[in-house]
Amino acid sequence: MTKMTIGVYKSNKNAGRFRFHRKNTNKIWKHYFLDEDEGEYTFQTEWVSAFKAIILKRNQQYKKTFVCLECGGRFTAYVPKNTTEYKDECPHCGE
Ligand SMILES: [Zn+2]
Repeated sequence: MTKMTIGVYKSNKNAGRFRFHRKNTNKIWKHYFLDEDEGEYTFQTEWVSAFKAIILKRNQQYKKTFVCLECGGRFTAYVPKNTTEYKDECPHCGE
């Protein structure tokens, strides 16, 4: 089971329910991730502390489009920030 971070955003945990009762609602971080389990990905969210949010943000994956140099096929993949080359094999030709 691997968690792949695709977003970490500050969010209002009590949005909606306590809007009219509390002025200073707690802002807390929400972690959006894909949970990989035996090749199946499921989108999930969880609340995290500010400290954990910083660590998660550092390892966040970004959706990017790549063009395979072998077959010219386009595909999207989640990769770390500033990645310009896709290291794994192309889903079209396997190169
Ligand atoms: Zn290819």
